[in-house]
Amino acid sequence: MTIVYITGGGDYHHARPDCPGITGGQKTADVHSWTAHPVEEVPLSEARQRGKAEACTKCRGASLMSGSA
Ligand SMILES: [Zn+2]
Repeated sequence: MTIVYITGGGDYHHARPDCPGITGGQKTADVHSWTAHPVEEVPLSEARQRGKAEACTKCRGASLMSGSA
């Protein structure tokens, strides 16, 4: 089973909980005094069901690039 990381406010799932795509969003929320969405660790199947079928281009893209290099 593939485990991915999602946040309530994100459109993508992430390969890493410390992905810049997640932490960057949290910082943006902090600056604007928005409520930051907690990171959830879920199976890929659940991420898809929740509308986050697309992989984040930052973390997933980086891992793909390093794998092919
Ligand atoms: Zn990511």
